[in-house]
Amino acid sequence: MQFTRLRLNGFKSFVDPTDLVIARGLTGVVGPNGCGKSNLLEALRWVMGENRPTAMRGAGMEDVIFAGAATRPARNYAEVSLSVDNTDRLAPAGFNDTDMIEVVRRITRDAGSAYKCNTRDVRARDVQMLFADASTGSHSPALVRQGQISELINAKPKSRRRVLEEAAGISGLYQRRHEAELKLRATETNLERVADVVDQLS
Ligand code: ATP
Repeated sequence: MQFTRLRLNGFKSFVDPTDLVIARGLTGVVGPNGCGKSNLLEALRWVMGENRPTAMRGAGMEDVIFAGAATRPARNYAEVSLSVDNTDRLAPAGFNDTDMIEVVRRITRDAGSAYKCNTRDVRARDVQMLFADASTGSHSPALVRQGQISELINAKPKSRRRVLEEAAGISGLYQRRHEAELKLRATETNLERVADVVDQLS
């Protein structure tokens, strides 16, 4: 799987539709202070399912919507779309039936986020799993923000292990284990209730 295109519309400082072609290999973003380099990286994390406003340097998720400027009114929604080349057919089941996968996340004021994958409505979790299984995602160590290298050098072993796990593509398994444990606990509670009812009837 290879990212090929990132499109932004109304996301942070990118008020006008902006289209970036992502070539193979390492991509670096350079430009003067305040031109939007970090906003681009955040758009990439956001479309892959980032759900912490703090990771977007905001207080609430709606802060990613263009907030207005002296000459432009604020926007009511923001949209980011990521095209992924899937000709190697490495996407997980459910997403693996097309050569090109287009994931779109849109946030509307007072209505929250909605995701689409090739025009089909999907859940945030589906998008997070798609990228986690492909060894990437909003927490991917392949997206290197300013100051991250020195953070990694000074990090505790546990944090470094998490980086390796993300790179190995096993972080999706942790999420699935967590969900399975929650289901198991809910089922155990239901069974206890059933046992109580059976006791009362007998
Ligand atoms: P530096 O090199 O200084 O870190 P940068 O190129 O990474 O800068 P960003 O931090 O990506 O720049 O962009 C900052 C700009 O984005 C600021 O001008 C800020 O006002 C603008 N910005 C952030 N959020 C919004 C928003 N919701 N609406 C409009 N503009 C926004």
